[in-house]
Amino acid sequence: MQSPHSSSTAEQSEQKSTGSFNPVLLSFGGNLDGTMERFERALRRLSMSGFNVLKVSGPLVNPAVGCEPGAGDFTNISVLGDWNGTPLELLDLTQSIEVEEGRPADHPHWVSRTIDIDIILMGFQTIDHPRLKVPHPLAASRDFVLVPSREILPQELMRFLEKA
Ligand code: ADP
Ligand code: MG
Repeated sequence: MQSPHSSSTAEQSEQKSTGSFNPVLLSFGGNLDGTMERFERALRRLSMSGFNVLKVSGPLVNPAVGCEPGAGDFTNISVLGDWNGTPLELLDLTQSIEVEEGRPADHPHWVSRTIDIDIILMGFQTIDHPRLKVPHPLAASRDFVLVPSREILPQELMRFLEKA
């Protein structure tokens, strides 16, 4: 479904948003030591770098699915914030935080990780860039994203996410 705010071009990933409130939904996940401390540091780092943190869900603990045998449970939180830079600038920031928190930049998929930060929504925008797909293509099928997001996301955006 198209919303009046939506658009779909690769160039959007380079464009700064306009207007005063640009809601962004992030999902954090991790299943190694000190996950909640890592989340706290990541939130502080985001706040210091221009991402205005507005709401943070409670943690959801859930079993590791599809990871290596014996992988520990994951903890996930959703974070709602406001970002006035470009989408790719936000991805650069979240990826630099992942690396700082000990996640190799060339990590394989589907293995235990110190922290994973995914950009789930940027308002009602659709972005299809080689480095960045928004809405995150797997988010609507991941309960560990949907359940914490329901706590903090405005209803209209939640409906958009569920249909993404
Ligand atoms: P997952 O989050 O499914 O475990 P990864 O974090 O390992 O997967 O995937 C990282 C890659 O996904 C990066 O190369 C990044 O450029 C790309 N990517 C595409 N869309 C997004 C998005 N919405 N949020 C975060 N990374 C994304
Ligand atoms: Mg990721």
